[in-house]
Amino acid sequence: MHFQTESLIYPVRQTAMLRILPVFPVTVRQDARYEAILRPFTGLRQYRRAEAFSKATVDFFRKRHMLSIVGDHLELTIDLPQEDSYIIELYIDGIEAEKLEIYALEPDLFSLNAYRGDNHMHTWMSDGKDSPMYMAAMSCRRGCDYCLITDHHKYEPSLIAKRFYEGTGVDFLVIPGEEIHSPDNPVHIISIGGRESVNAWWREDDREYRAAVREAIAEVDDTLLPEDRYTAAACQTVFDRIRAVGGVSVLCHPHWVLSQTHALNEHEDVTDYLMDHRRFDVLELIAGGAFEVGTQMQISYYHDRPTMPIVGSSDAHGCFLDQLEPHNYTICFAKSLTVEGIQKAIRSGLTVGGNENKLYGEYRLVKYAYFLKRCFFPRHEALRDRVGVWMLRYASARDEADAAIYNGLKCESPSKLFESLRYQG
Ligand SMILES: [Zn+2]
Ligand SMILES: [Zn+2]
Repeated sequence: MHFQTESLIYPVRQTAMLRILPVFPVTVRQDARYEAILRPFTGLRQYRRAEAFSKATVDFFRKRHMLSIVGDHLELTIDLPQEDSYIIELYIDGIEAEKLEIYALEPDLFSLNAYRGDNHMHTWMSDGKDSPMYMAAMSCRRGCDYCLITDHHKYEPSLIAKRFYEGTGVDFLVIPGEEIHSPDNPVHIISIGGRESVNAWWREDDREYRAAVREAIAEVDDTLLPEDRYTAAACQTVFDRIRAVGGVSVLCHPHWVLSQTHALNEHEDVTDYLMDHRRFDVLELIAGGAFEVGTQMQISYYHDRPTMPIVGSSDAHGCFLDQLEPHNYTICFAKSLTVEGIQKAIRSGLTVGGNENKLYGEYRLVKYAYFLKRCFFPRHEALRDRVGVWMLRYASARDEADAAIYNGLKCESPSKLFESLRYQG
């Protein structure tokens, strides 16, 4: 790569100055002729558009444009007419030199940052292999900006990891969480960012939980089998409780195939019922490398349903071998890297689930996320790895002096890194 654009992300339908900068050791030659052709990645999309594109707009993407040499860089005035990726073919003295890529966004997405996170991980405090601190550090090394420790039946491990890194100034967010298994209910449910433990609620006051389930059963369709009616009512009760403590509820891996029985962990009738009478916030669309068949069934199931918020998660029980390969994660489009910011993005469906190989979710978001995967996440991953290595050191030594070393890393925060890509004028 000999050239790069100053910004990667531009507002749609606004006049902007595209600046192309040489990458050291290349410099702009004052005697050379620099030209560019821009092409929308998906072609100009006129079909079913209320207003026809002007002739000037159509012609703009057919022409080769002379770039102005301004000091040490190149400039071209642009006005990108649709949300899309744009390929820039750069020519020097008539010969194609290289291709660059930028993205234009509608105002809603233009104002948001992209963060990567893992919403579902286990530690040795339930059935995992590693400590909460280690899992958090490794998810940072694997490119995440935030994580949730969601041990079975336990909220405390997520707080242990959160408190451990608090006050170090590390740019990594540990969100409180837990995987909830309420009594006589085979469905796995996660709470993202709840202020209190829902596991503790049913454990400490079984009567209140049972009474709430009995009340909920009355509302559940009696065409379900009796045990499924109970399960559905128990789930709705848990979802309501998660909402009451400020959490985002996740219906986890509904097509998880139990290897012992070759049957689903929960009856599909229950899943159908929960989808039709949705009181949870988000579906865990992809989870864990070990659930490939289940994941494929979930993806097909999701495609048959109206669009609903989704997340991708590793459900990792350790950091070795198949646990983080592929590493399933969520990309959130959020205002800030805070519990509230991430919760809002997830509830609003501003998420894509994915891994090293594939991304899933709403078409518009997936298309944008693939661009980020090509043009932004490689830089982001390098930064995350440095921060994660520091977290590992801190977790192993917990040396006060190391906190000073972290500041010495002078890592850009993920928010600042993303914001530096946005066109500022
Ligand atoms: Zn589970
Ligand atoms: Zn789990």
